Amino acid sequence: MQLLDGKQVSETIKAELAVEVSRLTAEGKRAPHLVAVLVGDNPASEVYVNNKIQSCHQVGFRSTLIKRDAAISQAELLDIVQQLNHDPEVDGFIVQLPLPKHINEEKITLAIDPKKDVDGFHPVNFGRMAQGMPAFLPATPFGILEILRRYHIPTAGKHCVVVGRSNIVGTPMSILLSRKGWDCTVTLTHSRTQQLAEEVRRADIVVAAIGIPEFIKGDWVKEGAVVIDVGINRIVDSSRKSGFRLVGDVDFTAVAPKCSYITPVPGGVGAMTVTALMMNTLKAAVKEIYP
Ligand code: NDP
Repeated sequence: MQLLDGKQVSETIKAELAVEVSRLTAEGKRAPHLVAVLVGDNPASEVYVNNKIQSCHQVGFRSTLIKRDAAISQAELLDIVQQLNHDPEVDGFIVQLPLPKHINEEKITLAIDPKKDVDGFHPVNFGRMAQGMPAFLPATPFGILEILRRYHIPTAGKHCVVVGRSNIVGTPMSILLSRKGWDCTVTLTHSRTQQLAEEVRRADIVVAAIGIPEFIKGDWVKEGAVVIDVGINRIVDSSRKSGFRLVGDVDFTAVAPKCSYITPVPGGVGAMTVTALMMNTLKAAVKEIYP
């Protein structure tokens, strides 16, 4: 069994991005600029946004944080989105989700110019992705593809079972892996799937994105399978100073010995997600997706 070290891959990509930024600035161009909009004081969102800003610094991108009180109106937030859409100094921006209940997230996502939608959540980018056209890919699936690519894991003709069908992980992952170039035969499963364990047992590649700690059991996984664990779950652990530890959606102890490759939690997929956002921001700055 070999661990798929997302942290290591992420560091390598960040070093590559830093080189690219130096090349751009040496040519007299400005560094890519990412803006993050954070509404309210959700502690998890603050951590995510701070990680994104910190990653920008690491690779030499310019970053701006726009922080607004949870009481901001939808109209005011839409105004900020419009300003960012039209600001030539901004290459890409994200509006950190979730938003307060009085704001319609769909309306905000739809208002973002697809050319600056580095989260890849806009239906235009999703549709382009589904049709195999250049598109900003959602960060988590994009990060997973980079892990598979950089570890040279064969995918063509392999049977991939994706567990979970969210719009940001499971569904785009299933589309991307079935596309030309990746060429998997994909089964997309969810909470209404019958005989889920049987389905997973048939997989050469398992992608688990459910949100239930250690849901995928040892006897669900066939010998030699590649297992990608997207889950990030906190479970109580009184032996830790923090009182909790992070586990994935896969029962790592039971599953790992059977795998050819597996992503750890933490240090696997999670480590790649912010880096994928940085990759999208560079693509936005050099107009790779929308020339
Ligand atoms: P969602 O809650 O949006 O989706 C969960 C999916 O799992 C749904 O499609 C649901 O099915 C399915 N599901 C729930 N229960 C079962 C079950 N008993 N059997 C089969 N399928 C089930 O989650 P996300 O996709 O946003 O996230 C999944 C996990 O990944 C979470 O742990 C999250 O924290 C983590 N995550 C990690 C990221 C990273 O950077 N590593 C980024 C994003 C998420 P149905 O549609 O039928 O309800």
